[in-house]
Amino acid sequence: MASEFELIRKYFDRPARSARLGVGDDAALLQPAAGMELAVSTDLLIEGRHFRAGADARKLGHKALAVNLSDMAAMGAAPRWATLALALPAADETWLEGFARGFFTLAERFGVELIGGDTTRAPASGPLSICITILGEVPSGLALYRAGALPGDDIWVSGELGGAALGLAQPANAAAARRLDEPEPRVELGERLRGVATAAIDVSDGFAQDLGHILERSGVGAVVEYARLPAFPGTDAQQVLAGGDDYELVFTARQERRAEIETLARELKLALARVGSIQKGEAALQVLDAERRAMPLVRGFDHFAP
Ligand code: ADP
Ligand code: MG
Repeated sequence: MASEFELIRKYFDRPARSARLGVGDDAALLQPAAGMELAVSTDLLIEGRHFRAGADARKLGHKALAVNLSDMAAMGAAPRWATLALALPAADETWLEGFARGFFTLAERFGVELIGGDTTRAPASGPLSICITILGEVPSGLALYRAGALPGDDIWVSGELGGAALGLAQPANAAAARRLDEPEPRVELGERLRGVATAAIDVSDGFAQDLGHILERSGVGAVVEYARLPAFPGTDAQQVLAGGDDYELVFTARQERRAEIETLARELKLALARVGSIQKGEAALQVLDAERRAMPLVRGFDHFAP
């Protein structure tokens, strides 16, 4: 059986181009470009919690990186480097080959270099766990925060909502399952929103909950019209408002930026829907139905909810 070091060399040691030093030493060395801030984010995925046992390795490699890229997008940062920590119940080379393929295919698309990590053995009973830290660059002062939404701002959503939740409920729905297993991080959109959006977040736990984080951090309220939300075909209100794992961006912007944002949508060939507005007052979200009645709000995902 291959040793830990052979496995690392075979599957994860790729030459670093922009990092001063990549895989192979005690630490990697990075030199951010002049005038850039480093954006850093970590996500941990655990078998049985974030993905089912036996999940396809290539898709996992894609998703584990995609959720991190999505955090960069939500900050307006350009993803550059990543580290990968794996706890593996077995040195399964078929799994490693598939995982590395999914990971590097996406990494190459976005110019991300794997610069280090850790590979350890988990107990044979599992769980398999995957922890990625991503580092990105954003011009100083231009990162998109959750705080920053102002009364009167429009609220925008990219792509479609609820598809991942539908894919979880109906794995035979291939388009929906793809939304769950192989999300498309909105990296280009995030970068183009620098200096345009007043606040941004990615939808990982559900639209209502994630918009709620913008409201709390910004100290404002919001009214959203349900009919304007871009629902994935076949989804219900629960899936659209509270379904997690979509990795779309929710952002706010001054009304004067509408034309610019509509142009951006055409350039990126990505739907951007204007779904509501930011209000003065407490950090509460009201979703109105077609008759402008407040809809009961469903809760998003919370690991520690009772
Ligand atoms: P250390 O003993 O200093 O932790 P390791 O023997 O764990 O070093 O790792 C050797 C090298 O391989 C290091 O540069 C580390 O960053 C890298 N590495 C280990 N596991 C991975 C992985 N899964 N992906 C990328 N690089 C890895
Ligand atoms: Mg180590």
